[in-house]
Amino acid sequence: MILVNDQWLSRGEAKVDIEDRGYQFGDGVYEVIRVYNGKLFALDEHLQRLKRSLVAIRIKPPYPMEVLEKNLYQLVEHDQLTDGIVYLQVTRGQAPRGHGFPKAAQSVLTAYTKSIDRPLKEMTSGISAHLTADIRWLRCDIKSLNLLGNVLAKQEALEKGCQETIFHRDGMVTEGGSSNVFIVQNQQLVTHPSSHLILNGITRQQIIKLATVLGIPVVERAFSIDDLFAAEEVFVSSTVQEVSPVVTVDKVVIASGKPGPLTQQLQKQFETLINK
Ligand code: PLP
Repeated sequence: MILVNDQWLSRGEAKVDIEDRGYQFGDGVYEVIRVYNGKLFALDEHLQRLKRSLVAIRIKPPYPMEVLEKNLYQLVEHDQLTDGIVYLQVTRGQAPRGHGFPKAAQSVLTAYTKSIDRPLKEMTSGISAHLTADIRWLRCDIKSLNLLGNVLAKQEALEKGCQETIFHRDGMVTEGGSSNVFIVQNQQLVTHPSSHLILNGITRQQIIKLATVLGIPVVERAFSIDDLFAAEEVFVSSTVQEVSPVVTVDKVVIASGKPGPLTQQLQKQFETLINK
């Protein structure tokens, strides 16, 4: 089923207007929420971030978050989704084309489920990443529908035979193409601070909490490309990629070239969390 505002439609019935502002301007925000064993994972955190993104671009959702929460549970139940994701977006709605906010437009919320597997192979073997200049805008903290910078960077990585992009601004690592980046340096976990330059990933937030429980020191500070290449361990985190070790960056082998011990500890702890 596809949820469009408060309507339940089939895939064929759900249509996008040619003047929907999400379609024409990327004028909207989104979330990707994991479903493990039929349960929505970290739903409160995702809804909080959605609210924050909506406030940042001044879109009023079609109904309160409590109603959305109920609808999402219903969606997962209806689709009998065991393991996968819910994709959810809210656009500023439909109006005759013009850059300024339309007075009359009503926001449009769309949500649907997709069955996907956990990235078990990536988690055990590790992935390769490609470093690229972060040419995106300066509000990466908003989970905006405008993903062209990420799309182009990811495609560049794929064409180089890599699975993920690692962005840097003037030599300082920001985040991944669709993930956050962590390194282990002097047995401490280092990751870019939550700022306008990165999306504060829900998985990132979970990992910081898990590391604290495990007694692994966490430092939220920007680190350089040199730090990345010299790291004891590197991994990326996201709703879809979970905790995926990065074993090469632009064909340069990171440390032993295998998932590192702290990364594995965090993977194990993350596994416990999702099975709760
Ligand atoms: N950074 C970017 C640019 C992303 O697109 C994503 C996820 O899609 C993340 C970070 C990780 O966020 P989360 O852990 O909430 O999935």
